[in-house]
Amino acid sequence: MLSKLILINRIVLLAFHHLLFRLRLKVTSLIHRITYSPVSNPRDIVVIGASFAGYHAAYCLAHSLPTGYRVTVIEKNSHFQLTWVLSRFCAVQGHESKAFIPYGPYLAKAPGSAYRWVCDEVTAIVSDQKGNGGRVQLRSGEIIDYEYLVLATGSSATLPSRVGEESKEDGILALREEHQRLREGRNVVVIGGGPAGIELAADVKTKDPEKNVTLIHSHGTVLNSHFGMDMRQRVLNEMETLGVRVILGERPSASDETTELILSTGEKIPCDCLVKCIGQKPNSNLLSSSVSPSGHIQVRPSLQLADPSLGNVYAAGDIIDRDIIKNGRAAIEQAQIVAQNIVRQIQGKQLVTYQAQWWEGATKLTMGLKKNLVYMNDGETDMIFPMKNKREDLDSAMVWRFFGAKPYEDPE
Ligand SMILES: Cc1cc2nc3c(=O)[nH]c(=O)nc-3n(C[C@H](O)[C@H](O)[C@H](O)COP(=O)(O)OP(=O)(O)OC[C@H]3O[C@@H](n4cnc5c(N)ncnc54)[C@H](O)[C@@H]3O)c2cc1C
Repeated sequence: MLSKLILINRIVLLAFHHLLFRLRLKVTSLIHRITYSPVSNPRDIVVIGASFAGYHAAYCLAHSLPTGYRVTVIEKNSHFQLTWVLSRFCAVQGHESKAFIPYGPYLAKAPGSAYRWVCDEVTAIVSDQKGNGGRVQLRSGEIIDYEYLVLATGSSATLPSRVGEESKEDGILALREEHQRLREGRNVVVIGGGPAGIELAADVKTKDPEKNVTLIHSHGTVLNSHFGMDMRQRVLNEMETLGVRVILGERPSASDETTELILSTGEKIPCDCLVKCIGQKPNSNLLSSSVSPSGHIQVRPSLQLADPSLGNVYAAGDIIDRDIIKNGRAAIEQAQIVAQNIVRQIQGKQLVTYQAQWWEGATKLTMGLKKNLVYMNDGETDMIFPMKNKREDLDSAMVWRFFGAKPYEDPE
């Protein structure tokens, strides 16, 4: 009981800390706007990828870089793609465009000459032999020199974990096609008992209780070990209450994925709609060193790459090789450290280190259309809060506002 009270106390202190932090950010960016001056040939800090990690790193850099430097963001997608709502928008129609947040407004209050935006894909990175910088090559053929580089390329997957399309138009089409497939399926099988698989299976079943929905997971229980056993069991109970059949410890084979899957026991699971929520792949193919066997990027505590010859290259977000819950909050915290360290390195100051904070792992899982479970663990104890799920679009507007965009206005 005492440990639960301590956790509640920590949550209140955290809210206060965040308020103070936002206030400090406003004051420092105001000072920066007054002191930053444009120059004719600024030195570039290139950020590759503008999701939670890259977009926030660009925001912090554009509000803090000294005169003479500029942040250049290179992102291949036309819009910020909000992963949190993808499972929901596959199961429920009518909100697709809310998953695509227009880029731009988040940086709009920084000095115009402190940043530039390039919509393209980086196809190669060539580092200077002396480790002083390098250049990136783009799909369009353009080459951009950098003095510092931030890798925030995250991971790739298919729906419902990532959109897998670059334009908003194609992304909306992909969501609608997936929705159509799920709506027509009578025997829906979801493979993968991580958050995306759990949320999708629960949404599809609550949307149409007549469907047979089966969730198959290769391990002995759902979720990973970053979640306590109480949470993992609670999720299993919720799925049972909703009527989702959960099969654990199985990697089914398919005689024909469009009609049935076969378990190791020989049992045949009818399947006319298969969704794979497995195999997110880290986008680290631009690098030849500092890559772990899992494909993640190895970093030092300062978030510089592990390879000592790449001291001017940093990484943040899902791409980094850290045994922590990978989510938007952690990506944003890491982005802040990266931006801070680049400015410190320019100024010749000692770098700060990233230490994962307990609250970065706080997770909200939807348990069907009407309910959420919020999970928090401060290392001493964990807590699960059931909450009503009031909005079908999962409060996408909140994230739009966070990134400076007016819900749901898109000038495009
Ligand atoms: C279904 C689901 C639900 C989730 N729910 C939550 C939640 O409720 N709360 C939460 O905090 N987190 C949640 N997460 C986790 C969160 O989405 C990720 O942790 C977060 O998106 C990681 O951000 P990132 O910036 O590291 O990378 P990503 O989001 O993977 O983005 C990488 C970006 O880099 C770009 N890029 C990649 N390669 C290149 C290149 N070569 N050139 C140019 N651009 C490139 C991509 O286009 C993309 O925009 C969820 C994830 C999933 C899959």
